[in-house]
Amino acid sequence: MSHFGIATIIAVVTLVAVGIFLKSPVRWLLGGFALATYLIALGLGVAFIRMQFFCSAACRGKTGRMRVALTFDDGPDPATTPALLDTLRKHDVPGAFFCIGERALERPDLLIRMLDEGHLIGNHTFKHAWWTNLLFGAALRNEIGRAQEAIHNAANVVPKYFRSPMGLTNPHLNGALNEAGLILVGWDIRAFDRRRTPARIIARTVKNTRDGSIIALHDGGVSASDMIATMTGMIAELRARGFSLVRLDELLGNSQS
Ligand SMILES: [Zn+2]
Repeated sequence: MSHFGIATIIAVVTLVAVGIFLKSPVRWLLGGFALATYLIALGLGVAFIRMQFFCSAACRGKTGRMRVALTFDDGPDPATTPALLDTLRKHDVPGAFFCIGERALERPDLLIRMLDEGHLIGNHTFKHAWWTNLLFGAALRNEIGRAQEAIHNAANVVPKYFRSPMGLTNPHLNGALNEAGLILVGWDIRAFDRRRTPARIIARTVKNTRDGSIIALHDGGVSASDMIATMTGMIAELRARGFSLVRLDELLGNSQS
């Protein structure tokens, strides 16, 4: 559990303890307040990876050199990933692909191409189901382990980075990731690229990007033409603002490992 999670629990336990020793109705008020605070923090921790409630996630890389990293989730997608790879190659930009294990098994050729073209492959669970964040114990380890295996079988590489579906975390994830030797990666810029037009995505992302940003995009579930338009514009705009686009592991300072 992260420092934020521990601090929240200590604060709540203290409030409850103080509440118990008070003999006035204030104790109920305090108790209710403590419970509400805890539930709100828990909800935020589940919903937003940047709160770092249950796990320490890498949400931003090293700063000082105006570098940023692009990450792509939910692929490989036979319709979009090849077009994205073409665009990245054309502009000489490395990306990090958080692949779904099941999809990696269907299109191992796309994973091999990612590696050949200098991209990084991360683990994005085997099934990417809506209930993944409710898993714990063997089921959670299995969901992560099967994706590691699928990616290894497809491209002969063992991922070092993991991104949870939708960035959701739970109290069991940290242990499962430690066991698998995986580093949890979040983001500080979320492009919301499935809901917006390329022009909107570019404008919003570029405006919010800062030194060390990790930008979260999707190659799964986005049309190839939107992807090409978004990436072409975003790469040009980011470079025009002085950013260099580096691979995620380089931005995190782990490219040698
Ligand atoms: Zn996803």
